[in-house]
Amino acid sequence: MRTIKTKTAGLHYRILILLLLVLNSYAYPVKAQSSTRVFHIQNYFSEVYLVENNNKLVLIETGVPVEGYADSLAQSIEDLGFKTEHIALAIVTHGHGDHAGNAHYLQETFDIPIVGSQFDFEKFTSGKTELAKSKDVSIWGTRLRPNMDMDYPAFTPDILVGTTEVDLKKFGIDGKIIPLKGGHTPGGLTVLIGNQFFIGDAFIGTFALDGASLVPDDHHVREHFYHENTTVADQVLEVIEKIAKANNVTNIYPTHFGPVTTAGLSKYINEKPILKELSKLQASLLKEIEHGDSDVANTLLSKNFNIITPYGQQFAKTDFIQQRITSPKTKIETVSAEDFRIVKADNNTAIMTFLKKLKITNKEPQNIYATAFYTKIKDHWELVFEQDMLQQH
Ligand SMILES: [Zn+2]
Repeated sequence: MRTIKTKTAGLHYRILILLLLVLNSYAYPVKAQSSTRVFHIQNYFSEVYLVENNNKLVLIETGVPVEGYADSLAQSIEDLGFKTEHIALAIVTHGHGDHAGNAHYLQETFDIPIVGSQFDFEKFTSGKTELAKSKDVSIWGTRLRPNMDMDYPAFTPDILVGTTEVDLKKFGIDGKIIPLKGGHTPGGLTVLIGNQFFIGDAFIGTFALDGASLVPDDHHVREHFYHENTTVADQVLEVIEKIAKANNVTNIYPTHFGPVTTAGLSKYINEKPILKELSKLQASLLKEIEHGDSDVANTLLSKNFNIITPYGQQFAKTDFIQQRITSPKTKIETVSAEDFRIVKADNNTAIMTFLKKLKITNKEPQNIYATAFYTKIKDHWELVFEQDMLQQH
């Protein structure tokens, strides 16, 4: 038993290391208004933010609990021209391993005071992410779960935040810590420094590498893959929006795939009911296709579909079948969709983009960028037309 466990851990560890080799030490500054400067230190799939305000330094998040990463974090800080021991405090937004992973190291090695919520105290002092307490919100939750339940070196925060705001003036910083009601975990903290707003995992941005190119602009607001309490997680979005508006915040920094704009968050909140309904509609449509016995021609390509290749070639339904699918009885093994995003919507019409993953028997799995148009008929949304763009291999 012990050997098997070690092997599994070893595999995950190697995946982490591999990703780290790609992304490690990739730090870059972002221009911010007033005297606040925000530096991204990317690690694995998340960020550590080094924030300079009034010549004082604050670290937001501490990175993943992967051997060797702690040193590289310190190195990245030095590379940016700062001394790690000059950091006034490190704020951990919540008790998950990819945020609290190196709090113990920073506390022990550089004597940096660590701030955390009292409601995640048990996670911090046990070093457990406790992912079993979280529900999967999207398909990515299920996919990433085996790699995300990270244990990390336990620590006791030097400063515990309860339900009231903490002014950072005593550290010489023009900012404050604003606790949330939780949702993602029981103890979520946000940090407002100048007009830069850090919100942990209350939501995330879209991946730049996967589907973000569907709409040619910056990162979009996207629901996190896990939440311990999805109802509260929904409620805090509006709290965040309110704080952002009241403080003239333009950039909101989630810990994964940010920043996003305040306008982008408002758009997301407004369109969330439609987004949820349409993504559910698509998911059930794809499930029917996946479970049905009918051939590709009649399922994937209804009369309302239009297919475009990476070279801009357009196919009518019959041409597509002849050129791409050898047998009319070719079966769809799996088809799923993710990264749903509303491009435009009103009460009666909506355009949604998403990424489809299609696996046909004897073919390589394929990514398809889909744009779907819907109208509301009586109380129901109906798919009017969908254009699928095949991704180039
Ligand atoms: Zn988290």
